Amino acid sequence: MGKAVKRIYTYLRPYSLLFFLAAIFMALEGATNSLLAFLVKPALDDVFLKKDLRMLKLVSLSLVFIYLGKCLFEYLRTYIMGSIGFSIVTDLRNRMFEKCQELPLSYYSSTTTGEITSRFLYDAGLLENTLTSTVSKYITSVFTIAALLFVVFYRDYKLATFSVLTMPIFVHIFTKLGKKMRRKSKKAQELMGSLTSILNEVLKGIRIVKAFCMERREIERFKRENAKVLKTVKRIYHIYALSSPSMEFIGGMGVAAIVLYGGYQTIKGATTPGNFFSFLTALAMLYKPVKTLSKAHNNIQRGLAALDRIEAFLRVENPIKNPESPAILKGFNREISYENVSFTYDGKRFVLKDVNITIKKGEVVAVVGRSGSGKSTFLNLLLRFYDPTYGSITIDGIDIREVDIKSLRSLIGLVTQETILFNDTVKANIAYGRPDASFQEIVEAAKAAYAHDFIVKLPKGYETVVGEGGAKLSGGERQRIAIARAVLKDPPILLLDEPTSNLDLESENMVLKALERLMEGRTTIVVTHRMTLAERAHKVLFMDGGRITGVGSHKDLLEREDGLYRRFCEMGIS
Ligand code: ADP
Ligand code: MG
Repeated sequence: MGKAVKRIYTYLRPYSLLFFLAAIFMALEGATNSLLAFLVKPALDDVFLKKDLRMLKLVSLSLVFIYLGKCLFEYLRTYIMGSIGFSIVTDLRNRMFEKCQELPLSYYSSTTTGEITSRFLYDAGLLENTLTSTVSKYITSVFTIAALLFVVFYRDYKLATFSVLTMPIFVHIFTKLGKKMRRKSKKAQELMGSLTSILNEVLKGIRIVKAFCMERREIERFKRENAKVLKTVKRIYHIYALSSPSMEFIGGMGVAAIVLYGGYQTIKGATTPGNFFSFLTALAMLYKPVKTLSKAHNNIQRGLAALDRIEAFLRVENPIKNPESPAILKGFNREISYENVSFTYDGKRFVLKDVNITIKKGEVVAVVGRSGSGKSTFLNLLLRFYDPTYGSITIDGIDIREVDIKSLRSLIGLVTQETILFNDTVKANIAYGRPDASFQEIVEAAKAAYAHDFIVKLPKGYETVVGEGGAKLSGGERQRIAIARAVLKDPPILLLDEPTSNLDLESENMVLKALERLMEGRTTIVVTHRMTLAERAHKVLFMDGGRITGVGSHKDLLEREDGLYRRFCEMGIS
């Protein structure tokens, strides 16, 4: 527990003054609880037995103030701890989002978005719960227990010693049952998980299941898993059903023993009824904070486990680092050069093998090859989404690893196969990357991309919100917005990764026209299956299995003796 306190405190430290204040309110709240038990003695002995009117007024008035104080302190500590806790979580969410922006693409291909989302929602939520409510309840309970123990011992130290000595039995049973229950719940959860995955699998593949007449087998499989869940959950209910009554029974026996002894003492005159009931009240009041404490313990453990995952995420390092003293590229003047570039994603299979190519300023280069031959990877390396495993890429003779990443990427415009737009206005989507652009510039860019005409026909024109991922637009329209975006950015280098795939013929022609304009005067590398784009290129790179197996004009390559390119074109390119 000491370690846990220390870790939580490192996050609370920036708010230590407020936290200290909250802790004072927690202590005061604990004290008011014990005052209630304390007051039972004068209430019984002086008011009810001696019928003392002055004491009646005093006790009633005290009760009013004690409750007032108790509620006020509870309000204050809950509010302060809530604010502090949520501030900490807000800060962590911001840092995680910054991390998301910083992390390289390689991270995203090995981690699902679901995992990252659960850091933001689930883990941050658990931590929030711990920091806002659990810590506050925990500390208040500790103070309350201390204050109540004081009353218990003050009223009857002998009986108190006896009662406190039996306390560990309770705690032991309670924690043991709790542990067992948690183990079973975890198992139930896992079983539920496998049940869900069967469900998902079958629903996704329902056509296959039916086509192969496997319904019976799938039903059997599901029933088997479901029966396992039932069995485990029954066990959980068994423990759950047993725990509360058995605790109550043991507690009842204890109370009987205490009443027997206390009543005997009272009849004998060794103690007063008030003294005894004050003791009993304080003892009974101990139950709640003790229970809170043991629950809080689990809660804190869960919160810390969530914190572990969040911290681990924040510690992930980006292998693509900005150099210590980066060169700033002011523009692009001469050439891009790949020198003996080899690359592997997983450290085993090379996806690019010994690629050597120089692309001169103003050239249009088409990259052609089978799916999986490394074309997209070839482009990704120039953007420094990944670094080459061997070899180097230079722009105007400078290794791009020595260049400031921002200055490198600002030279390059990228249009990919599937354009994902942000759920914002058309205007904002075009101006993405250049938020300072004037409306006039945006419209001109849209015109150049043949997008203006369809944009003005949208319900709110340039102010239309495009829906999640751009869902309210067709593929061709999204592509033309992406092209307008690139026109507005006005980069000297263009990377186009199959920009016309997945489009119907009509939109494809529109997009091709828009691309023509975009490519004017820019050094362009275009991955494509379109004959027209390959013909128009100064140079075609024919890729196969990560190697460049042919370089030349489309015509030259067609006439090659090996006929590989010609066969590929006859098969794939249209
Ligand atoms: P192309 O664009 O020519 O279809 P890619 O460059 O996308 O090919 O991919 C080349 C090879 O690298 C493929 O075999 C693909 O499976 C693999 N690959 C692509 N991206 C990743 C990744 N993020 N992690 C691991 N392997 C990848
Ligand atoms: Mg590709």
